[in-house]
Amino acid sequence: GPAPESAAQANEFLDAHNRTFELFINGEWKKAEKHFETINPSNMQVLANIAEASEGDVNEAVTAANKALKDWVKIGGRARARYLYAIARQIQKHSRLFAVLEALDNGKPIRETRDIDIPLVARHFYHHAGWAQLMDSELKDYKEIGVIGQIIPWNFPLLMLSWKIAPALAMGNTVVLKPAEFTSLTALLFAEICQNVGLPKGVVNIITGPGSTGAALVNHKDVNKIAFTGSTEVGKIIRKAIAGSGKKVSLELGGKSPFIVFEDADLDSVVEGIVDAIWFNQGQVCCAGSRLLVQESIQDKLYDKIKARMEKLRVGDAMDKCIDIGAIVAPVQLKTIDELVQKGVAEGNQMWQPNWECPKDGCFYPPTLFTHVSPSSTIAQEEIFGPVLVAMSFRSHQEAVKLANNTRYGLACSIWTENINLALDIAPKVKAGTVWINSTNVFDAGSGFGGYRESGFGREGGKEGLFEYMKPRVEEQFSDKPIK
Ligand code: NAD
Repeated sequence: GPAPESAAQANEFLDAHNRTFELFINGEWKKAEKHFETINPSNMQVLANIAEASEGDVNEAVTAANKALKDWVKIGGRARARYLYAIARQIQKHSRLFAVLEALDNGKPIRETRDIDIPLVARHFYHHAGWAQLMDSELKDYKEIGVIGQIIPWNFPLLMLSWKIAPALAMGNTVVLKPAEFTSLTALLFAEICQNVGLPKGVVNIITGPGSTGAALVNHKDVNKIAFTGSTEVGKIIRKAIAGSGKKVSLELGGKSPFIVFEDADLDSVVEGIVDAIWFNQGQVCCAGSRLLVQESIQDKLYDKIKARMEKLRVGDAMDKCIDIGAIVAPVQLKTIDELVQKGVAEGNQMWQPNWECPKDGCFYPPTLFTHVSPSSTIAQEEIFGPVLVAMSFRSHQEAVKLANNTRYGLACSIWTENINLALDIAPKVKAGTVWINSTNVFDAGSGFGGYRESGFGREGGKEGLFEYMKPRVEEQFSDKPIK
């Protein structure tokens, strides 16, 4: 049933801010000239007004981050670790409130925000606090990059914030972060946490706003690096915009990840894996297993099992603990999903949806399955970013690999078989940053995540992720002294 007590807590937080949120610059709230509304997609009600940062505001935030840099570097890794541990503890302390705010603002099920998103956020800060402590010994040949501009999407709002902010601060950088316009609330609660733990002013700045706010950050001359997670389309715009500027960049972009099922796989586990791969977070997951590749001999049996499972999935209000699939983040996304599904039908693919209706008062889309899909059709190539599974079959192992690599992306892959030798043979042949075997959507701060090809470059998490926020000290040894 619903979780009313924690919803009340969220309302208290929103009311304490008069349901209007300003910009977090230099450790203080700065009034913006313009605001926009953020909605709860489960019921379309307005949650709050969010500040829209202008170019001038972006400039102020970058200036604050620049000013804070020298002292933040000087205090050293051990002192920075103390702040990161304090942030991690505060996130755990307020985890219920964070989980509820995220569910209200994004539409993702409270079960997921409570059990997955927020615990992973805390883990990310603990993990990087550990690395901050080690920086002065294990990583002493490296130093910070400087002021980092960070731009994140709406599908895992606080988790993406933690993937960006934790390693950046640990390695001695200061940041200006722009959340996605649909989901600013948990980032603003995070700003309060920064105040609570006494984080030095200017080390973290949160500027809310639309894509144009992000563009102003990308183009600011005093930003030393841009870290972006979002669509491949915007990733390309950013890369072009900073070309030749000397800024560093890392891009985490889209995907069309294969979920490969061989004929000897345990099909009941496979079905639960599929639920996790494509219906977790309404399929709005960059590494979602959105392309089901199934060995021909078992395809009919598997499709029947999937359909039986789909009949039992429940779509509804994100705050209902009994639902499997929440709301799509915003009407514009709902429209995009529907258009792609209609295109799939128009291209002659077989579409199947369960025999029940979604609630009408929110932004909901039913779980959808396409079978016998032609590998060249739009729905087999384009990222749908919704609860839509696209299935096609293969005969030989070679064909499975060929199909798996038949996209412009390369983010993740999931392989299902009882034959570990086969799994280990296939894994390195698939172009993907992450390969899971008999599992899917497993993340950990200790393991680097990122893509190949049009899924972007750079890694987040693991030791590789640290190097996105450091540069070799040797780069600083250029000297202006006259030659003797
Ligand atoms: P998006 O690219 O539209 O927006 C992402 C962010 O960029 C938002 O904060 C947005 O305001 C900002 N932005 C938009 N235009 C900009 C511009 N010209 N300059 C600077 N910033 C700009 O993506 P989205 O719709 O928010 O997110 C969905 C996409 O993100 C999907 O394609 C998904 O695959 C991808 N994604 C990738 C990962 C990953 O780790 N690889 C993770 C999550 C999401």
